Amino acid sequence: MYEAAENRYDHMKYRRAGRSGVLLPEVSLGLWQNFGLEKPLEEQRQILLRAFDLGITHFDLANNYGAPARGKAEENFGKVLASDLKPYREQLFISTKAGYDFWPGPYGNWGSRKYLMSSLDASLKRMGLDYVDIFYHHRPDPDTPLEETMGALSDMVRQGKALYVGISNYQADEAERAIGILKENGTPCLLNQPRYNMFERWCENGLLQVLDREGTGCICYSPLAQGALTGRYLNGIPEGSRASRANTTVGGRYLTPGNLEKIRALNDLAKERGQSLAQLALSWVLRRKEVTSVLIGASSTAQLEDNIRALDGPVFAEEELAAIDSILAS
Ligand code: NDP
Repeated sequence: MYEAAENRYDHMKYRRAGRSGVLLPEVSLGLWQNFGLEKPLEEQRQILLRAFDLGITHFDLANNYGAPARGKAEENFGKVLASDLKPYREQLFISTKAGYDFWPGPYGNWGSRKYLMSSLDASLKRMGLDYVDIFYHHRPDPDTPLEETMGALSDMVRQGKALYVGISNYQADEAERAIGILKENGTPCLLNQPRYNMFERWCENGLLQVLDREGTGCICYSPLAQGALTGRYLNGIPEGSRASRANTTVGGRYLTPGNLEKIRALNDLAKERGQSLAQLALSWVLRRKEVTSVLIGASSTAQLEDNIRALDGPVFAEEELAAIDSILAS
């Protein structure tokens, strides 16, 4: 019978999501990979419980996580909730999303009210929950009026199926419009969830400023560039790593010869700071005051433990940030 560690709130730091009442752990855990068919449920359970024991209260899901077995991550998470975490439901902040291809036919993709409403109901069923803490529209839909999509989100809050709502993968101008509509509806946008890591800095040019001004929090996904910004690939592609698996994007997107040189230089810089490369990469994203949380993935409890130690890292000196910029620009 699982009993959560008594000291679980002693070490983790929590940041306020924008101008809201919600505090999130600086490190949150996502279930996009590793929580479908990749490993036995017991291993998944160990990672989830270790995360909670380390003060990670926020778990991020989506209807399609677990692909190719879409929905599997929610199903597995529901099993661990039922066996272990249900007594702690009030201490958990659980998200789900819809917006990518899920069901066949015209009602299983993008941003219609029809799709989002039924997807949330199905997610709640898979996880065995009455409500999620936040529901996101997973990506902007160029063809559905934003009022319809945001209206569906607002109604989820009124129905009590989601406590808060958010958006993901919205660029600055789209985010500004969505945030404005949600505000008018009386259901403010709690979080935007963009990709942000040392290799992908587009959100520094407008989006972070919009979120700061509007009082919306920012939770950044793939802060480790899917594992590229860790020690994982310093000596090739290990068996079992994400890059070694079929249908993954880490290799093509990040592990180019140019990037591998940068990764080695960043690794040296991390050592000088007394950090692992993963810790450096997470501290670097968290250096921005607009960032509420870094949303990591982990395939083992050891990775979680390594990543959490980013919270103990030294503050960046201006010269270190400049050195990182120059490595990235090289
Ligand atoms: P990361 O950039 O944190 O990559 C995680 C992967 O890096 C792990 O699975 C592991 O890969 C490797 N890793 C993690 N820590 C270490 C370590 N200390 N040492 C060595 N390797 C390490 O994030 P993800 O790309 O996984 O995304 C995180 C979450 O963000 C997702 O689960 C999801 O919740 C969310 N997300 C949201 C999206 C959206 O559109 N809104 C899109 C993508 C993600 P390995 O398997 O090789 O061990």
